[in-house]
Amino acid sequence: MKDLSIYIHIPFCTEKCFYCDFLSFKGKEQYFEQYQIALLKEIEQFAIFNKDKYIIKTIFIGGGTPSILPIGYIEGIANKIYSLFKVDEKVEFTIEANPGTLCYNKIKNFKDSNINRISLGLQAYQNRLLKKIGRIHTIEQFLQNYENIRKVGFNNVNVDLMFSLPSQTETDFKETLNNIVKLNPEHISTYSLILEEGTKFYNMYEKGELELFNDELDRKLYYMAIDILEKNGYNLYEISNFCKPKKQCKHNITYWTRKEYIGFGLGASSLIDEKRIINTNNFNDYINFKNNREIEILEKRHMYSEFMFLGLRMTEGIKKSDFYKQFNVDINSIYKTEIDKFIKSGFLIEEGDYLKLSKKGIDISNVIFSEFI
Ligand code: SF4
Repeated sequence: MKDLSIYIHIPFCTEKCFYCDFLSFKGKEQYFEQYQIALLKEIEQFAIFNKDKYIIKTIFIGGGTPSILPIGYIEGIANKIYSLFKVDEKVEFTIEANPGTLCYNKIKNFKDSNINRISLGLQAYQNRLLKKIGRIHTIEQFLQNYENIRKVGFNNVNVDLMFSLPSQTETDFKETLNNIVKLNPEHISTYSLILEEGTKFYNMYEKGELELFNDELDRKLYYMAIDILEKNGYNLYEISNFCKPKKQCKHNITYWTRKEYIGFGLGASSLIDEKRIINTNNFNDYINFKNNREIEILEKRHMYSEFMFLGLRMTEGIKKSDFYKQFNVDINSIYKTEIDKFIKSGFLIEEGDYLKLSKKGIDISNVIFSEFI
C-alpha cells in the first residue's frame, strides 16, 4: 500500500477577509447540504478504484472556513473517509477553524470525529487590526475558543498570524507574538500580507486608499518573529512555519516533498502518479456533480522545478540523494549552473547531502525559486 494524504476543501466563509483570494464564498449557507452530498460522492468515486492501493497518512480539511459548517457535517465527512479507506492509526488529521465560528460542542464534535489537530486563524492580537482586515472575530473569541480546544483535549494546535498589515506597528506584532507564545501552541505560522488581485485590499490599493509596508520593514518584522519564536522554543522549519519539537505539519510536508495527495471538493488539486489534477472551480457545476477536472501529466522539467522550489521552502532544504531517488538523475546534471551560482553568491548553502537557503537566500527566495522553474 502507498502512502496518501487527503485534502478536503470547504469553500464557505461568513465574510470575505479583505486580503483573501482563496476559493471561498459568503452567503451560501443554503448550499451546505448539497455541497456535502457532492463531496461525499466524489470521495466514494475515488475510493471505488483506489481504496485498496493507499494508506491515509494525513487528512486536512481546509477552506474557506470548515468550522462554519453546523455540528455533524465534518463528522459525516470524517466517517466517510474512515469507512472507505485504511487510515493509519497515527494519522495527522487537521481542521482549519475561524474563532468566530466555533463553540465548545463543535470542538468536541471535531475531537469525536478523530480530528487531532486544529489550525486557528487569528492573524493579529489587536481587535482594531482584526476589524481593519475584515476578520469576523475578536481576540476574546479567539481566547475563549483556544481554552475550549485545550479543555476538549487537543494537544496539537496551530495559530496563523500575519504581519505587514495596514496600520500594524512593530509594537503590535511584538505584542501578538509574545501573547501567542504565552498560550504555548505547538505550531505557529506567520505570513506577510500579499496584495492579491480581486480582493478588497487590492481595490483599495488601486484607489490609493491602502498603504503597503515597505520591504525593509516587512523583513524586520519577519526577523523579529524568528527571534521571539526561537527564543521561546519554536523552530523555523519552513519559510513561514514554526513549531515545537516534532510538531511539524506533516500534511504540508507532503506538499513540500512532492508526496502523493488527493484533493476533494471545489477547486481542490491532487498529485497522483505524476499527474496534477484540478477539480472544477465552478460552484454550481460541482454541486450538480459536473466536476470537470483539469488533468496535467507533468513533464520531467516541471517535476524537477517543483522538487526544488517546494523543497527549498523547508529550512533543512533538499537532499540531493532524494532528487536522484525521485527522478533517477543526478541533480547536478540538471541544475549545476544555478546551484553553483547561488552557492557562490551566498544564497544557497551546501551541507553534505543537503542544499538549503541561507538567511539572505530566504529574503530573495522568490527570485531563487523562479530560477529553478
Ligand atoms: S476566513 Fe479564511 S478563507 Fe475565509 S475569507 Fe478569511 S482568510 Fe479567506
